[in-house]
Amino acid sequence: GWRSRAAFKLIELDDRFHLIRPGMRVVDLGAAPGGWAQVAVKRGAGHVVGVDLLPVDPVPGATIIEGDFNDPDMPDRLRELLDGPPDLVMSDMAPNTTGHAPTDHLRIIGLAELALDFAVQILAPGGSFIAKVFQGGSEKQMLQALKRAFGQVRHAKPPASRKESSELYVIATDFKGRAPAS
Ligand code: SAM
Repeated sequence: GWRSRAAFKLIELDDRFHLIRPGMRVVDLGAAPGGWAQVAVKRGAGHVVGVDLLPVDPVPGATIIEGDFNDPDMPDRLRELLDGPPDLVMSDMAPNTTGHAPTDHLRIIGLAELALDFAVQILAPGGSFIAKVFQGGSEKQMLQALKRAFGQVRHAKPPASRKESSELYVIATDFKGRAPAS
């Protein structure tokens, strides 16, 4: 069985947007307890590399390390575990909520922005990016960066995401490739 309710969110997003293809390399940010990694492997991902603050019981087909994605050398640590550029970077990272909605919102966007910075450094051309964001405000900057880097940017709230939560996912596809240094 799936280890998390979150697994159903990725299943629904993938059914709709066809993000996971056989053999692809996938990065899973905020992987615990491992539901998204299970789904990616089940749907044929060749190699899944993930990270979480919490330890994750082994998921066959995935390599998940314990650590903080905010750690400055985390991007390099993840890169070293991959044998080439990933085709999908997905982030379901969410900080512990404070109960103060504006604070929670800013924190989640901070993590999503960090995930996006990483994605544009590492994704293979044509690759995709998924990240958990929140509805309303302060996403404009991130949206602009997404539109510069990807051919298509959409938002979706999968049915498995609780209606009362303002959680939303951004789905960016057709990565244009790293901008040439100027
Ligand atoms: N997608 C997962 C699944 O299907 O099992 C569920 C992920 S859960 C909603 C969010 C995770 O983000 C938590 O396990 C949390 O520890 C992790 N997280 C939050 N901040 C993080 C950070 N700075 N670095 C790594 N993981 C982080």
